[in-house]
Amino acid sequence: MTQLIENIKDWRSLRGELAKENKSVGFVPTMGALHEGHSSLVRKSKSENDVTLVSIFVNPTQFEDSQDLEKYPRTLVEDLKRLESDGADYVLFPRAEDMYADKYQYQVVENILSRDLCGAHRPGHFQGVLTVVLKLLNIAEAHRAYFGEKDFQQYVLIRGMAEAFFLKTEIVPCPTVREQDGLAMSSRNTRLSSDDRQRATLFPELLEHTTNPEEITRRLIDRGFFVDYIEEKWGRRFGAVRLGDVRLIDNVKI
Ligand code: AMP
Repeated sequence: MTQLIENIKDWRSLRGELAKENKSVGFVPTMGALHEGHSSLVRKSKSENDVTLVSIFVNPTQFEDSQDLEKYPRTLVEDLKRLESDGADYVLFPRAEDMYADKYQYQVVENILSRDLCGAHRPGHFQGVLTVVLKLLNIAEAHRAYFGEKDFQQYVLIRGMAEAFFLKTEIVPCPTVREQDGLAMSSRNTRLSSDDRQRATLFPELLEHTTNPEEITRRLIDRGFFVDYIEEKWGRRFGAVRLGDVRLIDNVKI
């Protein structure tokens, strides 16, 4: 049975019990609207730990666009069903007032990587991400925490933060899970119109098979995409595009 915990204090006392029993804890932080990508992280955590905690928290401080925050899909009932069938042990569903009792007075700032790629287009985004992830990692006190390579820049920043602040939790990367047609699974995909959903497959296809970033950009623009960036670094080809008001990101190894 998956147990829902809404109070951070309740998890902390449970965490104390688990420590006494010498249980290893795996942690999967999410913003809900769960899909197979999230489930793959939960399954990996289950295979490597005695107990798996999943958090669902739509973090307001990482949305620079209030419309995007408002429209972010919220599907708690379905999420709990999925987590039950994935075998997650605990789901933490904290209140924003508890997470931000300090009213976001304290923040984690990274000055180099967070200004690149998505950070260049979403000012303040990674500050919000790093701050909430530090809070969640401190709450969870997990042995391992699992992050998707779909958000590779986020993974690199979290790994760097964990190192910089001597966090005890091991940061574990997990491969991107895709739809059959190649589109990386994302909670935002459900907001694409059926026309845009069909068009969206061109994005991973070009990232994977076209080597020249300028050519990828040109071909995407020709098909009606708005391109934030297509760039190569860290042995990967990264992209962020928009179809209507839905922003998609992806990256592939090169
Ligand atoms: P989110 O709920 O979008 O904040 O994502 C929570 C975690 O799931 C993050 O570590 C994401 O990188 C990861 N994730 C989201 N989509 C995928 C995917 N398609 N494949 C693998 N991991 C994913």
